[in-house]
Amino acid sequence: MSTIVHFEPVSIAFASATLIDKGVALAYIVAALFFIRALAGLSKHETAQGGNTSGIIGMTIALVATIILALTSEPKIGVLTTAILIALAMGIGAVIGIWKAKNVEMTGMPELIALLHSFVGIAAVLVGYNSYFAPDEQAFALGGFHLGEVFLGVFIGAVTFTGSIVAYLKLSAKIKGAPLVLPARHWLNLAAILVSIALMVVFVRQDGVTAIGTLMLIVMTIIALLLGVHLVAAIGGGDMPVVVSMLNSYSGWAAAAAGFMLNNDLLIITGALVGSSGAYLSYIMCKAMNRSFISVILGGFGSDGAVTAGETEEGEHREITADETAELLRNAQRVMITPGYGMAVAQAQYPVAELTSRLRASGVEVQFGIHPVAGRLPGHMNVLLAEAKVPYDIVMEMDEINDDFPEVDVVLVIGANDTVNPSADEPGSPIAGMPVLKVWEAKDVIVFKRSMATGYAGVQNPLFFRENTQMLFGDAKASVDAILSNL
Ligand code: NDP
Repeated sequence: MSTIVHFEPVSIAFASATLIDKGVALAYIVAALFFIRALAGLSKHETAQGGNTSGIIGMTIALVATIILALTSEPKIGVLTTAILIALAMGIGAVIGIWKAKNVEMTGMPELIALLHSFVGIAAVLVGYNSYFAPDEQAFALGGFHLGEVFLGVFIGAVTFTGSIVAYLKLSAKIKGAPLVLPARHWLNLAAILVSIALMVVFVRQDGVTAIGTLMLIVMTIIALLLGVHLVAAIGGGDMPVVVSMLNSYSGWAAAAAGFMLNNDLLIITGALVGSSGAYLSYIMCKAMNRSFISVILGGFGSDGAVTAGETEEGEHREITADETAELLRNAQRVMITPGYGMAVAQAQYPVAELTSRLRASGVEVQFGIHPVAGRLPGHMNVLLAEAKVPYDIVMEMDEINDDFPEVDVVLVIGANDTVNPSADEPGSPIAGMPVLKVWEAKDVIVFKRSMATGYAGVQNPLFFRENTQMLFGDAKASVDAILSNL
């Protein structure tokens, strides 16, 4: 049981707490500070590693304090059984976690993250049910307030759970094709929320566990599970980044809700940190994609099915070889590299970094233009380039360099497609309204990819047929290696 009792002045609660309770409360505050430091650190390249370390320290403190708390608060199933169960759960979790961390490809990170969000969602649902059927004394004393916590926690958890599973299936291409667009889908979402509110009103008026309350909880869980599926299934390919960050935020709120139900202050703080930073990331992504933040939060966005730009090719494209590209680069004064998902697939960041340093050594100005949704994760390209030790000061955000393209001699579009697609200017296109890198304004554009296939959003790219564009076909890593050997 935790130290701080709701509605009781904190000072009184703290004074009557045991030494262990006080120590745990202190440890939680220290862990929370480390988490805040972690978030601040992760917001910049230069401090990201320190941010990660802070997160690890905070989590270690939190884990140790929580285990001590669990073992010293007279657990109902005995200290030894509790210790064995904790060790078992942590052991299994650690083995799976280490195995996954060692094996996951960088390109598989987005779906892994979506899957992890679903775990937070289902955890909140399970905690909610447990806390309803077997409340501890403090929770019981809270009556309707506790029931409200349970109801909200289960609702957010269930939406997060199924929403994240659908996101996982979409990101791993296990579900393909057009988004699910049901007639009156916005009304369906609204109806699901209104019915859930009505159920909640009945639920919190119950006196503890009753047949009616249980029925309300189960019906709402089913509605919330379906709502999660519907919210994410309706999102078109190009809009998935916002969904990923939105589910990140939901998973934070689900964790905070679980914190309320478990009366665990650190879980509330951590959940709120994840929830609010995820919401802020969603806001940044919405701005980057020119989407309305409010409609994303309410699930009322995505493709309306009116797709005008299809997969059909339009016109003739020109091809270029690696040695011709090397020749172009030798004569260039300013080069811009705009990487995309294909660079991650090809793992081309190392030869790209080598190409960058060779060109810079021979006096060519080289910069990177990073689209906010390039790749399959927020910051995906920045991580890859940092991994290959590309200097941070030449890696620019889209807004910083998007007006510079007319002064650029050669743009190397390495495995990017949707993020450099001029059809974003066409109304009706699935990516309509999304700001893109205006690479076509440069003198020469070289597109590195393996075929004329479309990008993630499934939209053909008119850039490939422009007069100043040439295609360098093949795996991006092999192409950059070939250029290096010709430089
Ligand atoms: P795209 O997914 O639009 O295109 C990637 C291109 O890379 C493909 O056209 C593919 O063409 C090429 N490619 C793949 N493998 C290789 C390889 N080995 N060598 C060379 N080329 C390769 O990439 P962008 O980064 O431009 O756009 C990202 C898209 O993903 C956007 O639609 C965004 O909304 C979406 N998204 C982004 C998320 C995020 O958080 N950043 C999350 C979810 C979705 P080919 O097959 O012909 O080689």
